[in-house]
Amino acid sequence: MYFVCCIEDNDGDYTSSTKTEIYQCALCHVTYRRKNSYYLHVRYFCGKEPKFLCPIANCNYKGKLKQQVKQHLVGLHKLAKIQMNNMEIKKLD
Ligand SMILES: [Zn+2]
Ligand SMILES: [Zn+2]
Repeated sequence: MYFVCCIEDNDGDYTSSTKTEIYQCALCHVTYRRKNSYYLHVRYFCGKEPKFLCPIANCNYKGKLKQQVKQHLVGLHKLAKIQMNNMEIKKLD
């Protein structure tokens, strides 16, 4: 018996590396092997300012995605999902 949890993320790409396509961001030259991650980066992350504010008072956290703020709320403020749904995550203009 052996554990495979830490190598799962490799997708087995290494065995067919000659055919693996690499997606590179033209702005910051970060490379991605997954098309989806690449598009996400270009669309929401690259060169973008964080626009979503943490709704907790006195917390200055800002995220580039609403989802990031939600993760922050759960991770740092220990909020349950149901509490989170009652909060409004504000977007800066
Ligand atoms: Zn980039
Ligand atoms: Zn916060």
